[in-house]
Amino acid sequence: MATFLWNDIVFGPIHSRRVGRSLGINLLPREAKVCTFDCVYCECGGLRLGASNHRLPTLDEVREAVLGRFAELAAAGQGIDSISFTGNGEPTLHPGFPEIIELTLASRDRWFPRAVVSVFSNATRLDRPEIVEALKRVDNPILKIDCALDDMAEVMNRPHKGYSVARTVELMKAFDGNFVMQTMLVKGPVVDNTTPAALDAWRNIVRELHPREVMLYSVSRDTPVAGIEKVDAAALAQAASPLVAEGFNIQINA
Ligand code: SF4
Repeated sequence: MATFLWNDIVFGPIHSRRVGRSLGINLLPREAKVCTFDCVYCECGGLRLGASNHRLPTLDEVREAVLGRFAELAAAGQGIDSISFTGNGEPTLHPGFPEIIELTLASRDRWFPRAVVSVFSNATRLDRPEIVEALKRVDNPILKIDCALDDMAEVMNRPHKGYSVARTVELMKAFDGNFVMQTMLVKGPVVDNTTPAALDAWRNIVRELHPREVMLYSVSRDTPVAGIEKVDAAALAQAASPLVAEGFNIQINA
């Protein structure tokens, strides 16, 4: 299955209908995914424990890449609408994550003051106060809960030892609902988080956390594990409909 890894610390801009011209920042190695999950649908592919180079970029390398690219784009008169921490794994694993967030926000204010800064995180590092504080500083902390049921998360997200959905939900309460929840729905013989029981439990978590927005989506590229099926837009909308009726802000990305 064709999956891919980002080669640069700063990549793009990529044009997106939803967020406009977007720059990505990858704080993980170029040669391998580094993550506390190993989701069956991950676009970066599976964890390659034998990969020879797992070195994270240093703080200096990140600083140089961010300042250099921002200055280059500004000098060329190219605007940026959004800056997203994404890439080859979980960005909060970088030991300099809080400093990098401050650097990025200061650089955004200097060169692209209207750009929105987002971090895509699997929410597994919320037990660290400095990570929560850094995530609260960005415009869009986008935090993942795919499954409300631990046994299903074990199969779908293949988390590090000790992961618990209930514990993650408790930690997410530190945001007082001021975050975006992202949820991937998939079907198939490997895992199906669209069953009535799974969706009921997931909707109850949304009600408990009351995020300001929920991003509901399904696979759009090849997956590292075979047998993962896309959930179409109509089924995503149906999964969300009770929450929409209750006034929740649900964005369907099909
Ligand atoms: S959390 Fe994201 S980067 Fe990590 S394995 Fe899952 S999809 Fe991939």
